[in-house]
Amino acid sequence: MKPNKEVFIKQMPKVELHAHINGSFSNETLEKLSQLKHGTSAKDTEKYNLFTKLDLHDGFEKFKYAHELTDTPEAVALGTECVIRDFNDDNVVYLELRSTPRATPKMTKEQYVMAVIDTIIKMKTELPSIMVKLIVSINRRESIESAEENGALALKYAKLYPDIVCGVDLSGDPACKEFSDFEPILNKARENGLKLALHCGEIENQVEISSMLKFGMNRLGHGTYIKGDNEETLLKNNDIALECCLTSNLLCGVVKTYSDHHFRRFYKNGHPVVICTDDFGVFSTTLSTELHIASDTFSLSSDDLIKLSRMAIHCSFASHDEKQLIHGKIDAYAKSAVGFKVKIH
Ligand SMILES: [Zn+2]
Repeated sequence: MKPNKEVFIKQMPKVELHAHINGSFSNETLEKLSQLKHGTSAKDTEKYNLFTKLDLHDGFEKFKYAHELTDTPEAVALGTECVIRDFNDDNVVYLELRSTPRATPKMTKEQYVMAVIDTIIKMKTELPSIMVKLIVSINRRESIESAEENGALALKYAKLYPDIVCGVDLSGDPACKEFSDFEPILNKARENGLKLALHCGEIENQVEISSMLKFGMNRLGHGTYIKGDNEETLLKNNDIALECCLTSNLLCGVVKTYSDHHFRRFYKNGHPVVICTDDFGVFSTTLSTELHIASDTFSLSSDDLIKLSRMAIHCSFASHDEKQLIHGKIDAYAKSAVGFKVKIH
């Protein structure tokens, strides 16, 4: 078969840096989780599939539904395993998963974190070609005490599993609370060697965007409303990489068309940008699909796509040696792919 762009992108070793575990449940995964929870095939999954037109609110509703199905360590482990398998099937070789530790009547936050970490360790043997890390999330909707607990768990488990727990994320409803409420927790994480990948600029709130950029972080998620020159300068001066989630932003209605996506502007300016899925289960996408859309929309050649993959590993929270390993895979693929220059237009 003559290689084409689909094959080229699908086979390319890929790097995913912005993926929420609970948003990355495919319908099959939801079915499995529903079986685990209810014992039989579940009508709940149909409820999930009823969502067709999404806005930010619906997106958060879907998260809530996925949460309902993962209320035990066993379910968290199963969900995490399915997500890792799905990314592996898409030839993702490096994956940073993020998730908010959750306490339920059947599980403590610590058990939640342990279930995810244990699964990542287990999958190392089963799927050795994908390297998986964990970013511990803080949900803005929850109390500050809860955020402090998550910060403490991130620190504790980063010490115990330094090759797995790599950072802290701030996510959830961007209209909840002030960024300054979370600064002490994030500062503590940073001072103790954890990286920061924070959701920023999801809604129009220039005061907060400005204060977040001044505070600094390693990477920011979305950045849809980063528009002013001052903000772009702060982004550049503080060397903050941008995680761009094309379909997520489109379906949540924060960008009108793919072509309007701010990826174009930042990519053109040479700013570090990474294409990510955000919640591939919620938005019915894959990393290959997102890269394909990026390639079509922004006229990216096969070389550009390889460069994007290299950029993603550069922006990752992997160690130096791990980065070398992934670069090696990308280099080998680039060499093997020389023969099939991919026509983009
Ligand atoms: Zn996100």
